[in-house]
Amino acid sequence: MPEQPGAVWIIVEQNGSMLAEVTLELLGKARELAALGGGSHVSAVLLGNNTGILAGELIVHGADKVIFIDDPRLELYQNDTYGLVLTELVKKHRPEIVLFSASYCGSELSATVAAKLETGLAAHCVDLNINDRGELVQVVPAFGGMVLGDIFCPIERPQMASVKPGMFSKPDRDTTRTGEVIKETASILDGYESPLKAVRVVQKQPAGLPLEKAATVVAGGWGVGQDTWPYLNQLAGALSGAVGCTRPALDEGWAEGEHAMIGTSGKTVRPQVYIGFGVSGSTHHIAGMKDSKVIININKDPEAPIFQVSDYGAVVDAKELLPLLLKKIGEHKEK
Ligand SMILES: Cc1cc2nc3c(=O)[nH]c(=O)nc-3n(C[C@H](O)[C@H](O)[C@H](O)COP(=O)(O)OP(=O)(O)OC[C@H]3O[C@@H](n4cnc5c(N)ncnc54)[C@H](O)[C@@H]3O)c2cc1C
Repeated sequence: MPEQPGAVWIIVEQNGSMLAEVTLELLGKARELAALGGGSHVSAVLLGNNTGILAGELIVHGADKVIFIDDPRLELYQNDTYGLVLTELVKKHRPEIVLFSASYCGSELSATVAAKLETGLAAHCVDLNINDRGELVQVVPAFGGMVLGDIFCPIERPQMASVKPGMFSKPDRDTTRTGEVIKETASILDGYESPLKAVRVVQKQPAGLPLEKAATVVAGGWGVGQDTWPYLNQLAGALSGAVGCTRPALDEGWAEGEHAMIGTSGKTVRPQVYIGFGVSGSTHHIAGMKDSKVIININKDPEAPIFQVSDYGAVVDAKELLPLLLKKIGEHKEK
């Protein structure tokens, strides 16, 4: 039996039967959206193999219902199989809103399902709300990150959005909550020969302190340049911190990897001290660091927008300052 149409859905991300934090964050937001009239109730959609144990956790974190498929063919995420199954579920249950994590898998899966359903998808939202017409307001950085834009999907249903991890708070566990588990099957996959075979998931462990746990974040932007980039690593080491970066520094291959990027499509950090070098201050980047306790920036352009969110700033060439700074720290440590 399909559930009552009009729910707010969240698509669960799990790995080895551990729920991703972002799934709980989405549940909290889904509850808010339903309370504002965006949907009749909150359902969590859980696809996997032997993951039923997670249904209870989803309910105590805010799901009214859990739509659950347990199938060996869904053991590991694959875009084609998950896309087919999820599209069928949406057609059957007709939710009003479907929320995904803007992780690698969530970004890919949400785009696939939206295309199959011929509905809209707002990717990498930084906030979600319900307007007075009961529509989902999907807030995304626009025009190179200079403004925040509201996206609507007024005609097609469901309204679909992906949200990056760390944007919303995790709801408290409420063990008095009860909910319904609706078991479904992946019969759409019967006879389907996938050209892909996911073999295993390998979690890449970044070297050093994780960015989101560091008390000091040293962030580098396009203004640092390839030759000066190693000084950032040294500075982070000297300050017992971690190195973060902007999108251009990642694209150039200066930064260690995607896990170092700060912003709407990267990580959200709230360190005691953020020190940015050669970062212009696009909304895309600021969204991921603005809640840092003390913000310091070094940029050679006095008009750089990053200074508007900085507690301290220096208008100076980062390529000259970085080696001098390291020398001074070295001298100080020797004393
Ligand atoms: C959908 C979407 C999502 C995005 N997500 C993200 C995201 O998550 N994170 C992110 O960072 N970006 C993201 N971006 C990109 C973002 O819009 C900006 O383009 C990017 O943040 C700019 O990076 P930057 O400040 O390093 O480079 P630029 O904007 O090119 O700025 C370089 C700065 O360095 C200064 N500079 C140059 N030389 C020196 C020097 N020698 N010394 C000191 N200062 C110097 C310049 O004055 C300038 O202010 C996204 C874009 C889109 C479209």
